[in-house]
Amino acid sequence: MDNGKLEVLHHGAVQGVTGSCHELRLNGAGILIDCGLFQGTERRDDLAIDFEIKHIKALVVTHVHIDHVGRIPYLLGAGFKGPIICSQPTALLLPAMLEDALKIGFTRDKKLINRVLKMLKFRLVPLPYGEWQPVAGSDIEVRLQRAGHILGSAYVECEAGGQRIVFSGDLGAPHSPLLIAPEPPEACDVLVMESTYGDRNHESRLDRRLRLKEAIEHALADGGTLLIPAFSLGRTQDLLYEIESLMAEFGSDAAAPGLPWNELEVVVDSPLAARFTGLYRKLKPFWSDEAKDRVAEGRHPLSFEQLTVVNSHRDHLNAVNYLARSRKPCVVLAGSGMCAGGRVVNYLKAMLGDPRNDVLFVGYQAEGTPGRDILEYGPQEGWVTLDDERFTIRARVHQVSGYSAHAGQEDLINFATGITPAPRQIRLIHGDAEAKAVLQARLGDLLPETDVVIGE
Ligand SMILES: [Zn+2]
Repeated sequence: MDNGKLEVLHHGAVQGVTGSCHELRLNGAGILIDCGLFQGTERRDDLAIDFEIKHIKALVVTHVHIDHVGRIPYLLGAGFKGPIICSQPTALLLPAMLEDALKIGFTRDKKLINRVLKMLKFRLVPLPYGEWQPVAGSDIEVRLQRAGHILGSAYVECEAGGQRIVFSGDLGAPHSPLLIAPEPPEACDVLVMESTYGDRNHESRLDRRLRLKEAIEHALADGGTLLIPAFSLGRTQDLLYEIESLMAEFGSDAAAPGLPWNELEVVVDSPLAARFTGLYRKLKPFWSDEAKDRVAEGRHPLSFEQLTVVNSHRDHLNAVNYLARSRKPCVVLAGSGMCAGGRVVNYLKAMLGDPRNDVLFVGYQAEGTPGRDILEYGPQEGWVTLDDERFTIRARVHQVSGYSAHAGQEDLINFATGITPAPRQIRLIHGDAEAKAVLQARLGDLLPETDVVIGE
């Protein structure tokens, strides 16, 4: 290993968009930024850590999405003994996320899960935003700043050998419900930046709440249930927050014939989403000012009166049967967000055949998922395959975009060009080839002095 040399290495997410894991190495000692799982078409069976970790002095976690933290159990299993540095909210959310990931993808052995969680809690070092932390055993210091992506998300500033290296993690966009918008770093020599949406912008985020309102009213006009497939972390809480704000603003206006907005029933059917929503409520100090103001007004953005949480599997089956038969308008949020599994599947099976019901997609639907099939082919083909069985689609299907947790192209550009003086180098990672190439060209034009490179 080279001594006296500063290196940035990528152990994942260079070619694809999942499995984020990067290393900053100086004088033979390194730190890892994230240790994520490969997902979707990039999925691998062998998740064992395939790089040297003896010299790794710390792991810094940007946020708790599984493509950034999913391989932490394998890192611990490989003998990693260093601290896991993360923001205070992430320290609270991470054990819940990994417990669920272990149960689904790894083992049902409770003892084993508890052992991993215990190890994890012992290693977690919650670091307040904006405070420098030296990494013992290395000449590197790290500082976390808000990334505005999900609660607790951070970008990582590293001071190493007189140079400032910034790892963006996943960046969010302004106007996110609940979250404080990210600010560009004050200084930076090398910026390692995600480029998921490097080639496109999101639909306007400012009026999406009214588009959500329209979609809900339209869906509920003929009675029946509105089903919203949603990820349990982030998206579910964003939607609850928005729905509560619609209830507060439109109170006695009709959401559906004979049903005022403030009496609209909302069901969250997901134990994991319920758990994360509870943790989000505990993390109020980290909410945006707007969200805190609502709490100060006596409102409960994530636990309003009309909200019912379904936990047990039996209650879930009861809820599916009840709602499939009843003619009472109701909004149901259930995971998974792309309908590839989870409780949303039972709702779809029970409800797709009835034209009174509606499905509303608020998130990206990846190629090959039932969500994509329902959205794209459902209207023409009139059916979708769920668990190897064909289901007729008579329910109406809607989509509201603008709820992405990721920065769009302009947001990424604003982040990079907001740094003065401009970084010496920008490395684009975590995006498909097209997105990286388009962003590389844009940044190249805007920052002529900066060397904009892709991956390594
Ligand atoms: Zn993420």
